[in-house]
Amino acid sequence: MVNSLMENLIPEFIPNWIDGAQVTARANQQFEKINPHDGHVLTRVARSRAADIDDAVTAAQRAHRAWADVPPVRRGMMLHDVTMALKQNRETMARIVALETGKSYKLALGETDGAIELGIFYASEGQRLYGRTTTSGAPNRYAMTVRQPLGIAGLIIAANTPIANTAWKVYPALVCGNAAILKAAEDTPATSWYFGKLAHEAGLPPGVLNIVHGYGEEAGAPLVAHPNVDVISFTGSTVVGKFIARTAGERLARVSLELGGKNALVVCDDADLENAAKWVVLSAFSNAGQRCASATRVIVFDAVYDKFCEMLITRANTLRVGPSDDDDFGPVINATQLDCMEDTVARAREHGARILCGGARLRDDAHRDGFYMSPTILDNVDARAEISTTELFGPITCLYRVKNFQEALTLANDSPYGLTASIHTRNVHRAMQFVQKVQVGVVTVNAGTYGSEPHMPFGGVKQSGNGSREPGTEALDIYSNLKDVYFQLDPNSL
Ligand code: NAD
Repeated sequence: MVNSLMENLIPEFIPNWIDGAQVTARANQQFEKINPHDGHVLTRVARSRAADIDDAVTAAQRAHRAWADVPPVRRGMMLHDVTMALKQNRETMARIVALETGKSYKLALGETDGAIELGIFYASEGQRLYGRTTTSGAPNRYAMTVRQPLGIAGLIIAANTPIANTAWKVYPALVCGNAAILKAAEDTPATSWYFGKLAHEAGLPPGVLNIVHGYGEEAGAPLVAHPNVDVISFTGSTVVGKFIARTAGERLARVSLELGGKNALVVCDDADLENAAKWVVLSAFSNAGQRCASATRVIVFDAVYDKFCEMLITRANTLRVGPSDDDDFGPVINATQLDCMEDTVARAREHGARILCGGARLRDDAHRDGFYMSPTILDNVDARAEISTTELFGPITCLYRVKNFQEALTLANDSPYGLTASIHTRNVHRAMQFVQKVQVGVVTVNAGTYGSEPHMPFGGVKQSGNGSREPGTEALDIYSNLKDVYFQLDPNSL
């Protein structure tokens, strides 16, 4: 893909979408969005603050009543129109995603198609939005539940899979009848902006979906603190998630938190080692390791450790790093993230870690201006060390040697996080024991640590979330209230 061609896809300035219009930030301030592939300024973006959030909330409040009164089936059809607009423009969307994240077009297209799939799923939920009809203990009484919107939804997302993250939040919030304010990730403003454009052109009423850009503390925090925002749905780091839970908890606003992970992948002595090595490489390095579900702790039985180690290193050394479809993964999203991972790996090395491959940013001509980290594998690290417990969100993974299944399970669970895990074994008893005992929200057998399908509930335990699940029909519970309805009939009035 020719870069200059692609750059025309992203305007020189990315405005907010408020009340169906593209607007600058009130203070008329901007920030620079840097291209992670070459370190150049890609575009300038509205730098919003509390006053802009106020405007967006006011617009959402104005739009909400009428949107909530649109029958859910019809809301679903309107969201279907938005999804079809995304489908018609999937290549443009994928190019924007690729350009602002540095990931390949091929990967970005897959992500866009995932968002379309999710849009179709939730548009159809307009036809279901089920309550429950049940029995009553009293004679002549009928009991049921109906779903009602909460009001205004504040949606805050991370940059790693920007169109997927946008879709995961916007569709369920809107199909339930809420009006929404999406605070886009500061590193991927163009993706959310373009989604807003497609939604607007597809006929979504003004104010139903407002999209605001800005930094977390300046634009995200006022959205979280806003008294008229009824639900905050957040995808991002655990530290920010805790802040959100505290702030929104003060006014008892509903909060959904999809947070970080330090995901274990266990390789047993009876595993298909080629299959396991393939999945470790995909789980640790795809999307440059910028996945909450990334396999950052690979736990290997002693009996196969050395052989498996060799297999992994061989595979990792063949990985191509760059932004094209021929590459295996691209840059990380910004310089701060790259610096942080380099520093953490350096500290681990000082504490005795063995660097089996990679370990530093790529400084050759093709990579030195971008935020490229080499595929990095370490071992000889303590389970409680910084590198074992801190999410780095990069192409870095650690290997741990264990004697047997029990040690592997104990180590897998010895983590502040509990998002995903995987086990590789041919033994169904081991597999089922692991599935039962591992403390995570998503577990796989003989595959990778991956996110979930659109109709399935994804989320974590411990520091990986607060128990909510997105997407699937479970996300409807985040964005709607159940109301109990009782009908008392009088047979004498017939
Ligand atoms: P981050 O928490 O720094 O930022 C995420 C979003 O929160 C951004 O839009 C940011 O502007 C905003 N934000 C930051 N400070 C804020 C504040 N004080 N108030 C309100 N909003 C604020 O996370 P990141 O580094 O951009 O993203 C990576 C993290 O996201 C990782 O921890 C990763 O595991 C997590 N993540 C989780 C999932 C999941 O589904 N569990 C999916 C993707 C990413």
